Amino acid sequence: MKNYNLAIVGFGGMGNEHNEKIKGVKNLTVVGVYDIKSQRQEYAKQKGLKAYDSLDGILSDPKIDIVLIATPNDVHKDIAIKALKAGKNVICEKPVTLNSIELKEIIATANQYKKLFVVHQNRRWDEDFLTMKKIYDEHLLGDIFTVESRVHGSRGIPGDWRQKKECGGGMLLDWGVHILDQMVLMIQEKIKTVYCQFTYVTNSEVDDGFKLILTFESGKTALLEVGTSNFINLPRWYMLGENGSAIIEDWDLNGKIVRVKGETETNIVPVRTAAGLTKTMAPRREDTIFEEELPKQIADVRDFYRNVINVLSGKEEIIVRNDQVLRIMNIIDTAFESARLNQVLEFK
Ligand code: NAD
Repeated sequence: MKNYNLAIVGFGGMGNEHNEKIKGVKNLTVVGVYDIKSQRQEYAKQKGLKAYDSLDGILSDPKIDIVLIATPNDVHKDIAIKALKAGKNVICEKPVTLNSIELKEIIATANQYKKLFVVHQNRRWDEDFLTMKKIYDEHLLGDIFTVESRVHGSRGIPGDWRQKKECGGGMLLDWGVHILDQMVLMIQEKIKTVYCQFTYVTNSEVDDGFKLILTFESGKTALLEVGTSNFINLPRWYMLGENGSAIIEDWDLNGKIVRVKGETETNIVPVRTAAGLTKTMAPRREDTIFEEELPKQIADVRDFYRNVINVLSGKEEIIVRNDQVLRIMNIIDTAFESARLNQVLEFK
């Protein structure tokens, strides 16, 4: 197979991460970088990479097959369009753009210039997500009626461009695109409504957290929540089906499934609470449930890059499709509008 040469635009935290990850991918080589900060250019040289003196330097280098954009969010669009017009294939970091209109412009350019444009939705390879998706796909809990996906931290928004609206900061754009992408890959149904609320605990310019509720055609609901002032984390995933529940507590996939045994429970012993008795909320007797391990999935995020070069070699279909990413950006647009109006909005 041909070797593909790649250059990274924006060699900060994520640019560096790409360089490290790509070292484990055959037939793909990071040749060089361009970053507006001279320290990052120097750092690239220390790592044995070429430091191009401009974006144009990369775009006019015939050796480069793929431009990978890992700059702050607000400049993704302009760099992507320039690179596509220069005849380069483009991998772009998430959030691909600040809204769906910008993404449509990029997709039109990619189509016009017949080049590959793909968004780095790497959390499709998260093992916690794939484990929950397996439980969902295999109906291990019967019909699912609610899925909750949460990401909690306690440090506010990192103190750089992520705090600025003009740079596309805020948690809905940052983490929202990941957990939305996962949710709609799991619940593959038409979305009926979107409701979003933001928090501004540590920041007044952009959201430092959000709660987003989606309702689907079948009546299922999904709750997506990101918090950055959470000193106690709620579980990463919580799923409820008619016959059982599943939980994933953390990134290490601690969790379990609890399912009901076939027979109806009889002789329920009520639980006594301070103000009275309740049978409804009494704990299950152990002989009426199964407690099971999670069907843990294993994944390699480098398959993202392998897919890109296999697509360029005509061997595979693209995994992260632009129509899927566009749908995510449409949901994000609707979520911003829902939060602004404090209203549940229909999703069209
Ligand atoms: P960062 O601030 O660490 O790095 C951004 C770099 O881009 C900086 O070094 C900056 O000097 C450079 N830069 C800014 N404007 C530029 C321009 N016009 N041309 C060239 N270089 C420019 O930020 P980061 O955390 O690396 O995030 C970069 C992108 O990666 C963002 O879009 C972010 O959302 C995304 N990201 C994705 C993941 C993921 O898991 N997929 C994780 C972290 C960040």
